[in-house]
Amino acid sequence: MKLDALRGIGPRTREALGRLGIDSVESLLLHLPMRYEDRTRVRPLGDIAPGDSARFCVRIDDSRVGFGGRRSLLLRASDASGSVGLRLFHFRREQQERLRVGSWWLCWGEVRESRWGLECVHPQMQAVAGPETLPPLGDTLTPVYPSTAGLPQSRWQKLLDAALPRAAELFPELLPAAVAPPLAAAAALAQVHRPPASAPEVLEHARDRLAFEELLAQRLAVRRSRAKLQTRSAPRCPEDAASAAALEAAFGFALTGAQRRVIGEIRADLARPQPMLRLVQGDVGCGKTAVAAAAAAQVTAAGLQVALMAPTEILARQHAATLAQWFAPLGVSVALLVGGDGAAARRAALQAAASGEAAVVVGTQALFQEQVEFAALGLVIVDEQHRFGVGQRLALRDKRSGADGAAHQLIMTATPIPRTLAQTLYTDLDISPIDELPPGRSPVETVALPQSRRAKVIERLHVVCAQGRQAYWVCPALAESEHATAAEDIAALLREQLPELPSALLHGQLPAADKRALIDDFRGGALSILVATTVIEVGLDVPAASIIIIDEAERLGLAQLHQLRGRVGRGREQSYCVLLYKPPLSATAQSRLDALCTLHDGFALAEKDLELRGPGELLGTAQSGEQRLRFESALLDGRLLGAVEQAADVMLAEPAAPVPALIRRWLGERAEYASV
Ligand code: ADP
Ligand code: MG
Repeated sequence: MKLDALRGIGPRTREALGRLGIDSVESLLLHLPMRYEDRTRVRPLGDIAPGDSARFCVRIDDSRVGFGGRRSLLLRASDASGSVGLRLFHFRREQQERLRVGSWWLCWGEVRESRWGLECVHPQMQAVAGPETLPPLGDTLTPVYPSTAGLPQSRWQKLLDAALPRAAELFPELLPAAVAPPLAAAAALAQVHRPPASAPEVLEHARDRLAFEELLAQRLAVRRSRAKLQTRSAPRCPEDAASAAALEAAFGFALTGAQRRVIGEIRADLARPQPMLRLVQGDVGCGKTAVAAAAAAQVTAAGLQVALMAPTEILARQHAATLAQWFAPLGVSVALLVGGDGAAARRAALQAAASGEAAVVVGTQALFQEQVEFAALGLVIVDEQHRFGVGQRLALRDKRSGADGAAHQLIMTATPIPRTLAQTLYTDLDISPIDELPPGRSPVETVALPQSRRAKVIERLHVVCAQGRQAYWVCPALAESEHATAAEDIAALLREQLPELPSALLHGQLPAADKRALIDDFRGGALSILVATTVIEVGLDVPAASIIIIDEAERLGLAQLHQLRGRVGRGREQSYCVLLYKPPLSATAQSRLDALCTLHDGFALAEKDLELRGPGELLGTAQSGEQRLRFESALLDGRLLGAVEQAADVMLAEPAAPVPALIRRWLGERAEYASV
């Protein structure tokens, strides 16, 4: 049902909702609260702990205007059990008059500890005659929705008020009687948006009911598309000892045990006539590129082509150069296809892919454009898969391969996915962990410093870069915005203060040729300091760089910080990471920076991230803009999975079961792409 069917949704609201992926009344109803507030109970001040958001009813004992710092109205108020300070920064004259000593007010707000005891800044306030004569407070919890600019919580309440009466019509029961829980889907939705305050188990049941249905839809989608894939054949690429040996000789290092094991698994997969579907998961710097190369060597030895897709042009270029070097002794040609190259280069690469002259084609998103054709595509490798949308990945898989059957797929990521999550999301997708770093690496020594120490950091940089070290200085934003320290400003500052050290600024908007030249200069040692936006986040490999300074680190997520830090510590030299932050830090930002200073392993950090932020962040869904599951926590605790699997069996065995409708309800467009 179109959003226009609801009254009072104008173009602005529609646009804001669109940003959250909400484009129908159905998806609005499936936009679930992230938490709830209990505004149905008035609590005695004596029971309220600092940090609580609470409703309380107080009498004003004192009122004055304070001028220390910002002008504000300072009220002291109390009930029978204690007292609280109320502080209003914005107030009008008549408001001040109404808030006179002796009047009673029903308040809602977050109560904090201050120097003068409990304090509440800008509570919502409603005049009442006294503590015995309160207005009705309702009997449902107040939901708090994930939101975006232009949509205050009060707006969400109204949107849902308008949408909820349509729930029964839009969410008919789809589960067959044999598996349906007693509570109907539409009823559960209504309860999740308006749960009774007095019976917490109602909300819990409703959430379980919806989580069950969503997990079931996900499982059905995954099982269906996996079954489809299994009916397809793939070209057999037998193991080839000669090319394997030649490649290993070209590496210039001995493979780690973990690399060897994973390569062994891939070799066996490729030799089978079914499509491989394998996820290689390994921390930044563990050497996934070499594993990809080994897979590619076996496929090219069988006379088939390999497509390798990277999320950024910088990374694609780097992979093309690395692979060209490794494959040169094998006589395997490597072509590069990126958006930023001129038309002639592009035509040549397209031609090389279509004729089969290029055995390996490395590229960015440009790789899945319509015109790209392969003579005989045998293997698709996707690097840093969490950066891609699933749709893009599938487009490449489904590219008319020219070869017999579907191409094999190898997916690589540094973002660890907890096991239960992986199993449900990817079912029979095979997972190979690389749980070992190349020898001689020591953890990157990490410190967090306030920005006031920037001058000291620059001084120190001066000393160590003069001794030949190379450093990245990362700034989250390019141009000065409200909070951001601009990369441009830092670049200028460094040029001014360290004129004898060659430095340059790298950002996403530079022409491709300039980017390439800068990175080549940095790689070759001609630049000591590379100031960059987060464009360098994924994959960039310059082993000689041993220092990274991350400005405004408090603005970045844990996974992103870990990725950035992974740009150093790639050689044998002790590496350092400095996290500069703008105080004061929020509690979560503080925990994030602390975690980074003490933890170095991607899995440990991912667990921490899960604890601090919930699974969405961990999966990098924020980055790829894809939502996976609304009830990921239910997936993680695993409680429902047994019942979900049984229900999936029942529904798949029943030809009349509304499987497609159920999948569409929960996965929408993503339905087709459920299994990687
Ligand atoms: P990632 O897993 O982050 O993609 P890369 O493939 O970029 O890691 O490898 C990181 C660095 O480690 C590269 O410079 C690579 O050449 C090097 N490397 C990979 N495997 C080994 C190994 N077994 N021994 C030594 N160095 C290695
Ligand atoms: Mg990599």
